[in-house]
Amino acid sequence: MAEKDSDTPESIKSKIRDVPDFPREGIIFKDITTVLRDPQAFKKSVDLLAKHYEKQNIDYIAGIEARGFIFGSALAYKLGKGFIPIRKPGKLPAKTERMSYELEYGNDSLEIHIDAVEPGKRVLIVDDLLATGGTAEAAIKLVKKIGGIIVGIGFVVELEFLKGREKLPEDCKITRLISF
Ligand code: AMP
Repeated sequence: MAEKDSDTPESIKSKIRDVPDFPREGIIFKDITTVLRDPQAFKKSVDLLAKHYEKQNIDYIAGIEARGFIFGSALAYKLGKGFIPIRKPGKLPAKTERMSYELEYGNDSLEIHIDAVEPGKRVLIVDDLLATGGTAEAAIKLVKKIGGIIVGIGFVVELEFLKGREKLPEDCKITRLISF
């Protein structure tokens, strides 16, 4: 997968919109709705992730609410895998595990159904963007806590300057399509 800016999929990168001072002052929000509304860019982002993961041994794809649902479920459909939602608190109806974490702009928690993954099954986690890494770290902990094995974690975007990958376990394979 792309490791340097020089070989990034520019067609996706050029569709990402910078929104300054959202959700609070000082944050430059990378808006991927402008990728989603572009049929080529959306397709390419899912196709590139699928190409990277198609030969890997994966049982489930877990997407992180909310933008991880969009890319994660499209990827699950394309690869013929089941989809598992990792959601904000209070949204999942059955019994859940919960993990709290720090965000670039605040605190939050994530939940997963305790029976979402049979012990020993292999799970790929997907989100739109890796920023400070707290969200991804919590998602990894949740999947492990209910008995899943982490195949890796895939993002469309990595904000490298926030060094989020340093927060993730060393043995967790991180893939991202583009970086800033
Ligand atoms: P973090 O836990 O800091 O890695 O934050 C990752 C999550 O927050 C992802 O689900 C992103 O959708 C969202 N996020 C954090 N910072 C940004 C940003 N600057 N632009 C867009 N999304 C962001």
